[in-house]
Amino acid sequence: MSCLKDGKVAIVTGSSRGLGAAVVRELAAHGCNVAINYFQSKDAAEALHKEVSANGVSAIVVPADVKRLEECKRLVDAAMEEFGHVDILVNNAGVNRDRTLRRMTAEEWEEVIATDLNSVYYCTSLVVPQMIERNWGRVINMASIVGQMGNVGQSNYAAAKAGMVGFTRAAAQELARYNITVNALCPGFIETDMVLNLTEEVKQALLARIPIGRFGRPEEVARLCRFLVAEGEYITGAQLNINGGMYLQ
Ligand code: NAP
Repeated sequence: MSCLKDGKVAIVTGSSRGLGAAVVRELAAHGCNVAINYFQSKDAAEALHKEVSANGVSAIVVPADVKRLEECKRLVDAAMEEFGHVDILVNNAGVNRDRTLRRMTAEEWEEVIATDLNSVYYCTSLVVPQMIERNWGRVINMASIVGQMGNVGQSNYAAAKAGMVGFTRAAAQELARYNITVNALCPGFIETDMVLNLTEEVKQALLARIPIGRFGRPEEVARLCRFLVAEGEYITGAQLNINGGMYLQ
């Protein structure tokens, strides 16, 4: 029996759309109770809530801007109030504000660092004390191939994602003794709004660089996430590539 059926509870940040929504579907399909978090896409989050609740798991929807510590606290408090504990945290919320260095504004830099990186510290530090008490936890950080290989016009995003990997390694070492694993997923280019909104020219140029010859699917990333959570008790501090062979290390 999957350990997820054992009344486990997951918070997935930024789960109204894209990879986060796919992770919610996958964890819920395996019996996990979930806290769905949205920032702006309320209707999508509520539709997802309805969908997964129909599968017999408990779910809540919590609006929270993860750039803000107090809103992360509200998210974690809401999950604790509803479920009594949080076993799994998927730090997934992210934005990109692509611009070459000559044109990037400080606001664009700060928004990406705050959303993609500061939130990882905020949410993780808020859930970890009760994971330590329960001697079990799983933290998954949604990093990116871009944090590994860099990309023109994405210095803010690459810095945030590489920062998540450093955070993952340090936190994994710190928390291993409490049976808490911390890992980073490094997806390549996956079919979500973030990629589908690129121009056709950029998409074709990217496809030409992917040996498997297609973009990834959100469900493929979600399955890897579920594997780490449910079966990955001896995997910690890792960065797992899921990129169709686009970047190998
Ligand atoms: P997406 O389709 O653009 O969805 C982004 C999600 O993040 C949405 O649910 C959005 O919520 C949420 N979000 C954005 N800002 C937020 C904030 N301040 N507070 C709370 N939630 C916020 O992106 P995606 O492709 O699913 O990406 C998900 C994660 O995977 C990101 O961290 C991204 O960097 C990473 N990633 C994506 C790819 C890819 O190819 N797609 C590759 C590597 C890594 P609302 O809509 O409710 O505002």
